[in-house]
Amino acid sequence: MKKIQKNKLFIQITYRDLLEKLWLIYLFKVNCEVYLDPAKINSYNIDEIERAAKLLDKRGISRRVHAPVCDPNKEGFDKYKEIYYKTSRFCKHLGADTIVMHVEGYWREEHVYIWKEIADFADENSITVLLENHQEISAKPIIKILTAINSDRLKACFDVGHFYVFAEKSVTLLLSDYAGDLIKEIHLSDNLGDMDSHLPLGKGKIDFLSFFEALDKTSLDPYYTLEAKDLSGIIKGILYLKRIGRL
Ligand SMILES: [Zn+2]
Repeated sequence: MKKIQKNKLFIQITYRDLLEKLWLIYLFKVNCEVYLDPAKINSYNIDEIERAAKLLDKRGISRRVHAPVCDPNKEGFDKYKEIYYKTSRFCKHLGADTIVMHVEGYWREEHVYIWKEIADFADENSITVLLENHQEISAKPIIKILTAINSDRLKACFDVGHFYVFAEKSVTLLLSDYAGDLIKEIHLSDNLGDMDSHLPLGKGKIDFLSFFEALDKTSLDPYYTLEAKDLSGIIKGILYLKRIGRL
């Protein structure tokens, strides 16, 4: 049974909570994936975020950034790119080297190559971009982009909860659709299959035991991000992972 190494475990936290609850992060000594609110992307204070980065560095706490969610088919592909570039700048100030971005559905051929521009910029800035599934019913849209661009800077983040709600296959079977080592991060939250309710692990219907067993059979060595609604969800998630022998 493979264990999750402590340095590979992250919790998701909003940018606001990161600043207000630094003490909590110190207490847990857990790495954070900072969710950048769309409203904050134009208004964060560079000094403030660089100060937080220094404090986190001192305690050896890593960070990654979840980009604001944008549906390019509704908001436009220029807007999508703008969000990516702004998130990259935020990453630099925060000292993060990974961005998680939702793909939001199907990308037509002529738009897939936007990802080439994104991957090239990521490469120049030593950032890795992970494409996260959201409401897609299969892994195909993401795999199509990843294989077309074929860059070490463009990989996948597998959100178990999203797949459980929206996908047509079981979470365990979907995992095998991703070839080789495409998956670099896994988002963990539970739900009842009806909505993306971010329940604490073990409180919904997702069969995490089978999921982790399926993972054991792969050569993947991903990072894990616990997505919980509140502190109690984080604690329950950590205790659950310990209980099933994964931490
Ligand atoms: Zn997620």
